[in-house]
Amino acid sequence: VKDERLFNFSAGPCMLPVEVLQECQDHMMNWNGSGMGVMEMSHRGKEFVSIYNQTVSDLRDILQVPDSHSLFFMQGGATTQFASVPLNLLKEPSNAADYAVTGSWGDKAFKECQKYGKANKVCDTKSSNYTFIPPVSEWKVNPEASYLHYCANETIYGVEFKSTPDVGLPLVSDMSSNFCSKPIEVSKHTLIYAGIQKNLGPAGAAVVIADKACLGNAKSICPTLLDYKTMSDSESMYNTPPCWSIYVVGLMAKYLKEKGGLAFWKEWSEKKAKILYDAIDGSDGYFICPTAKDCRSNMNIPFRVGRGDEALEKKFLEEGKKHKLVTLSGHRTVGGCRASLYNGMPIEGVETLVSFMREFQEANPE
Ligand code: PLP
Repeated sequence: VKDERLFNFSAGPCMLPVEVLQECQDHMMNWNGSGMGVMEMSHRGKEFVSIYNQTVSDLRDILQVPDSHSLFFMQGGATTQFASVPLNLLKEPSNAADYAVTGSWGDKAFKECQKYGKANKVCDTKSSNYTFIPPVSEWKVNPEASYLHYCANETIYGVEFKSTPDVGLPLVSDMSSNFCSKPIEVSKHTLIYAGIQKNLGPAGAAVVIADKACLGNAKSICPTLLDYKTMSDSESMYNTPPCWSIYVVGLMAKYLKEKGGLAFWKEWSEKKAKILYDAIDGSDGYFICPTAKDCRSNMNIPFRVGRGDEALEKKFLEEGKKHKLVTLSGHRTVGGCRASLYNGMPIEGVETLVSFMREFQEANPE
């Protein structure tokens, strides 16, 4: 089966390590001799409760979550968090929040906030096609804002914050597409959320890490299931949680930990990304990555082929499939190509891609 697997560069859902998939398969019908598969278990039963507790404990451990912060799961993916954040964190009298818009996910979060309060963009790089992050000193911060929201890694444009932005406001971050790819400064954040379908498991759920001090302030219109205090107090189990997703996250957390924790994964991600960026930059402009070098993502790498020749790009994507290289097309809104190098992408995938790029360039000169 391992040999039949493709190098799937999808931005999510995406590849998971074979070891983790194998463990899912082995336990599909009988988890640890319990006689039940995980998706058949009661979420209140001792078996699932033990899976849940271990998952939270391993995640807290690899992410070094301090006692001041609660970690729990919510349903509805990261998009639901775009609403949960303002519904829980906007404070009177300003009822205002700041948003750094460095890509379309940040913009979506900003627009969702507008439904519940006054959303202010501290920066918006849309006119540059979201290719850079303006220095924090240039951001137009509203000191009355309840929080500042930023997207740590813009999945579509490949723009990643390399340090935690400090503007003197409570920080909220969408870390969906670089979560668990490197250590993070949890204590500098009031709230962190991440859809899990990139580095951690199946789609449809999010991990939330919330400073306990911010819990209990949800607006009265906030749906019960989106109230952070409800979800933290009930340990993700106000209703039936996404049991299977949590189980897979648990396997991934264990795997990430065994391999050396997030310091290891940071090095690993940097190594994989460097192989691809070096190939792009060393192609005499045949391949182009439009992102500013100081904020190039280690997770999602957008690039153009043949200086942006669409016919060549189509050919590149088609021929790549013969080398097991799939799902390399850019997001439908930007075109071109994009390689996502999450934790599940083996280094052979990147090496195969790079040698195919060289071959393609030679065979298809401009
Ligand atoms: N935020 C970022 C950075 C993303 O990459 C995505 C999805 O790819 C989302 C939010 C939305 O996630 P979901 O589809 O789980 O709602």
